[in-house]
Amino acid sequence: MRALPGIGPYTAAAIAAIAFDRRTMPVDGNIERVVSRLFAVEEPLPKAKPLIQQLATTLLDAGDEKSRAGDSAQALMDLGSSICTPKKPACALCPLNDDCVSRARGDQETFPRKAAKKTGALRRGAAFVVTRGDELLVRTRPEKACLAA
Ligand code: SF4
Repeated sequence: MRALPGIGPYTAAAIAAIAFDRRTMPVDGNIERVVSRLFAVEEPLPKAKPLIQQLATTLLDAGDEKSRAGDSAQALMDLGSSICTPKKPACALCPLNDDCVSRARGDQETFPRKAAKKTGALRRGAAFVVTRGDELLVRTRPEKACLAA
């Protein structure tokens, strides 16, 4: 499926699991959140994606035949969108709450971890336009400087 145009890893896994019940877990944003909270994944996104994919797959039954991958994927997506919401997850209603590491610690809303955004240094500058009559005077910038040529 990955060879087909427009089919990325998520779509391929979703089709494989939901349409063909293949033992694979398509990980969308909802599943990412559930899994990162369930296992308290400390690695920040997006670096944690392969680990989250691996952990999500462990939630499927080991047996190939009856893994019900499609149902499991849809159940996790629904859990993420309705119960394990980004803010104020309804953990009391969650069928996974006994096994949820972050819930036990009480820091579930801090997951998934995200890489700190790089903040650039604030720089201020001034720009001038020099004209002479109808002419606009320009000069090439030096090779090394702010807004170098
Ligand atoms: S117990 Fe809470 S944090 Fe853990 S998976 Fe369920 S809803 Fe999410």
